[in-house]
Amino acid sequence: MKEMELYIHIPFCMKKCNYCDFLSAPADEKSQSAYMEGLNREIAYYGKAQKGRELSTIYIGGGTPSWMQESYIESLMEEVYRQFPVRKDAEITIECNPGTLTRSKLECYRQLGVNRLSIGLQSADNEELKLLGRIHTYEIFLRNYELARECGFSNINVDLMDSLPGHTPEKFFETLKRAVSLGPEHISCYSLMIEEGTPFYDRYKFDMVKLRAGIEPEELPSEDTAFQIGKMTQDVLEKSGYARYEISNYAKKGYEGRHNIGYWQRREYLGVGLGASSLLEETRYSNLRGLKEYIEASYYIEGRTMYDGHLGRQIRCTSLHEQADGLSRQAQMEEFMFLGLRMTEGIEKGRFYQAFGYSVNFVYQEAIDRLTEQELLVETPVRLYLTERGMDLNNYVVRQFLL
Ligand code: SF4
Repeated sequence: MKEMELYIHIPFCMKKCNYCDFLSAPADEKSQSAYMEGLNREIAYYGKAQKGRELSTIYIGGGTPSWMQESYIESLMEEVYRQFPVRKDAEITIECNPGTLTRSKLECYRQLGVNRLSIGLQSADNEELKLLGRIHTYEIFLRNYELARECGFSNINVDLMDSLPGHTPEKFFETLKRAVSLGPEHISCYSLMIEEGTPFYDRYKFDMVKLRAGIEPEELPSEDTAFQIGKMTQDVLEKSGYARYEISNYAKKGYEGRHNIGYWQRREYLGVGLGASSLLEETRYSNLRGLKEYIEASYYIEGRTMYDGHLGRQIRCTSLHEQADGLSRQAQMEEFMFLGLRMTEGIEKGRFYQAFGYSVNFVYQEAIDRLTEQELLVETPVRLYLTERGMDLNNYVVRQFLL
């Protein structure tokens, strides 16, 4: 049976964080209930449209899925199981935010087959959490984390955020140390991004201008400091038994996140919910981003076609899609390289040949030679992967694979 991953987007949060530009917002009970019904209708639609596909992973993300009443998650998962065969060993993750978890929610997730939690700690410093606009304190996180263990979760990711205003390697070390001492199976470390339209953008935009001009910023860490934070993070995590398997992701052996690995290996996935994206039959789809529009459209989902300017032809989509981009052969190869090289194991030459019918050397010999000479890339008979320096200069490296 052909496999597929499933991503389910829950776009609701108790309160918007100061740096967040994700598709998420607070919502009243009525909107939540209407949305969850729409989501179930979308899942039911794809149960038929994608009949015969087996789910290898399910990821309920957001937003804050753990903010939702458990009955919503229950009916959501019941709909998934009704519509799709799910692999026995499927990885099923739900994103949780401290301050929204209860024993009864956790027990409910376990009963529904959820076997992985991703908890957004971000910082172990309460002042930093306040600055970020998070609803929790470190103590609340700790209670939620311990509760999750008591309820039997043995695969937990903890999300951390570095390069916050005022961060130094020493400061972030305190957060890392506390996270590591709990022994989660997986740790993700992303750097703070200052995005337009957020309160942080207004507050730190001049620092951003300075950073871009190579001038020392006032509150945000300089490029040098951010680099040192990254190195310290890698050092601490690797010494604590976490292997880096992707630029921002570390795991104990056997606990690498399978859902995200699927994205980096360009496996097919279906995204359902507000603004969710999918990769199916070499087409990238994005769902409608307006809550009202999405709920209305979910009553009458139908197949359609949309004109794709890049490919110059009509491509198939549904009435829930806002955008559909068919990927040219060239775009597929570029994605294969820049997504695959995010992982420390890099890309398998055989998979490239299998996907495109050409050897990766035939297509990219010049870039491979240049990058190996610069000691950013390593070539073996079966693989290509980035050196540590290559990982640090990932943005430069991926540009070399644009055709
Ligand atoms: S909890 Fe996450 S998704 Fe929600 S507002 Fe904060 S950063 Fe955004």
